[in-house]
Order: sequence, then structure tokens, then C-alpha cells
Amino acid sequence: MTKEEIIDFYKHSTTEELIGKAKEICSVKYDNKVFLRGLIEFSNYCDKDCLYCGIRNANANVHRYRLTEKEIIDTVKLGYDKNLKTFVLQSGEDDYFTNKKLCYIIEEIKKITNNEVALTLSCGIKTKKQYQEIKDAGCDRYLIRFETSDEKLHSYLRNGISLKRRLQALNDLKELGFEVGSGFMVGLPNETEQIRINNALLCYDLGLDMIGIGPFIPHPETPLKDSIQESIELTIRMTALLRMLLPDANIPATTAAGTLSPIGREKMLEAGANVLMPNITPTTYKKDYLLYPNKICLDETGFECIGCLSGRVGTVGKKLSFERGDSLSFLSRKDYSGNNG
Ligand code: SF4
Repeated sequence: MTKEEIIDFYKHSTTEELIGKAKEICSVKYDNKVFLRGLIEFSNYCDKDCLYCGIRNANANVHRYRLTEKEIIDTVKLGYDKNLKTFVLQSGEDDYFTNKKLCYIIEEIKKITNNEVALTLSCGIKTKKQYQEIKDAGCDRYLIRFETSDEKLHSYLRNGISLKRRLQALNDLKELGFEVGSGFMVGLPNETEQIRINNALLCYDLGLDMIGIGPFIPHPETPLKDSIQESIELTIRMTALLRMLLPDANIPATTAAGTLSPIGREKMLEAGANVLMPNITPTTYKKDYLLYPNKICLDETGFECIGCLSGRVGTVGKKLSFERGDSLSFLSRKDYSGNNG
């Protein structure tokens, strides 16, 4: 189907019909495997003030924390020993973690894991030179969500930061050879169905390798606390649309979906998601990284979560995979450029 035909199908189909299509793609492309990523939220300091975000700088009620470099590296080691092959290091935009520190952490992780793991960073906007340094240190993937494709809404929600700057960062990352991820929130205030479709089309135009989406959940300590909570169904429909538009991209079933609905992640998996990200941040810190309220799985270690997730994926006919799970789009780019290193 062409992109136009997919959009037309999306507009005229029930959610069950969309899920049916997404299931077919996941069965053919991924043999119904679900890749695991160990998520480490290593700092909840942030100098930005995005209106929707629970750890925004202006929220004085957040108990701020930073993992030490050793704690980050040790947590990865723990995950590696439990067979995880991909780790995502995520933080607010925290200047304490200079590029020098980040590069040291990346190099150490690569060393202690015999260069067997894929490492993803998600620490916000940096200069192209900084991204280059991170890449040279051994980082494989970078995530930076654009959150909405609507310029005006973006600038409002991000307290003045332009969508253009975000897209520039994504472009820089692609040029530098990263496996690139982005994504958006679903059900933001003032968001229309056309904006949601445009969000999906922006993912398509960017040729993303990884796409993270999740429902907007109003946080009580943000300016958007009184916003309407949209139904999880919007997120499910969007997941299926993305799977159809970008069959070769990795799409996580996000914790936000599991927070909004007890079977939110299972529904996302049915609708085309093929990644789960157990949060292996030490439990003492987990409860303080609340981008949205009532986040699930805060009392369990990420490793306990893997057992639980294994049962959950089984209920939708899928199976957990401990492979690195590079995105198919990234692998085909590498093959095309003749770079197999
Ligand atoms: S969304 Fe990211 S950049 Fe914005 S305030 Fe939250 S942590 Fe900071």
C-alpha cells in the first residue's frame, strides 16, 4: 500500500481491523518476537520546562537524583549478566553529565560487555559535535522524541523550543550514522486527529528506526494538570498506523500505555509494537522519575518485570527475545552503504 492508501485505510477502519493488519506485519517481519531493552533513568534533573512533564525544572516538589557513573555502569553489568543485550540510558537535559562523562560511561559499558550490547542514549538536544563524540565513544542509538508535529503546539508545550531545532537534532543524528528514534505523545491538549496523522507522517518522512509513542497523561504538578485524559484507544490506533507506515521500525509498547490501562502494553503489542523496556533503574530512584503520574512497576526491580512481561506477551501470541534487535531499517541502511562494522 502507498502512504496515501495506508492513511485512507486508517481513517476508514475500526480499531480491530487496524490491529489485524498490524498483526500480519509483525508475524511476517518479526516472527512475533518482542525485543527487550533495559531502561536506566540515570538523572531526573532537567533545565527545561516542558509544560506536560512531571520532572520539569519548575516543579519544586520533585526529589532530584543522579546515579553515579559507577552506579550506571554497575546497573548495566547486572543487566548484561541477566542476558540483556540492549540498554537505554535516559535523563532530563542535565548539564552535570557533560559529554566527557557520558563518553566515559559509554566506553566503560562497551568494555565490560565485550562490545556485545547496543547502547541507546536519550538525553535531549546536543550539538552535532557532541553527538559525534558520543558516537565515537561507541553509542549505537539515540532517542529524541518530537512529541508533536504541530509547530505552534510544540513551541507552546516545550516552553518556546522550536520543532525545527528538534528536527535539526534528528537530522544530525541520522547523518552521523546513529540508529535514530523519535516519537510523540497521543492526546495532547488542542491536538486534532489531523495532527495525530501528521505526527505519524513525520515519523515516516524522517525514516525513523525506532518510534516511541504513548498516551499523554496529565501530571498534577504541571500547568497541564486540568487537561482532558483521552482514551487509550487513540494510542492503539496510532500504533497500528505506524506499524503499517514503517514496517521496519522498532516500536516499544510503552509504560505510559500500561499506566493508563492495565492491558495497555498488551494492546500496543497486538497493534504492532515489538519492543518492551523493563525499567532496571535501582528501585530507590525509580519513584522519582515521574514524567506522568501513577507510573506502574515502581516497586519491582526491572528483572522481576521481565518475568511478568514474559507472561504478558504470551497472552497476545508473542514471545520475548533477548537479541540485540537492531531495527530492520537500520540494518538495511548499513547493508546498502556497505558498512557492516
Ligand atoms: S520532557 Fe524532557 S526536556 Fe522537557 S522538561 Fe521533561 S525531561 Fe526536561
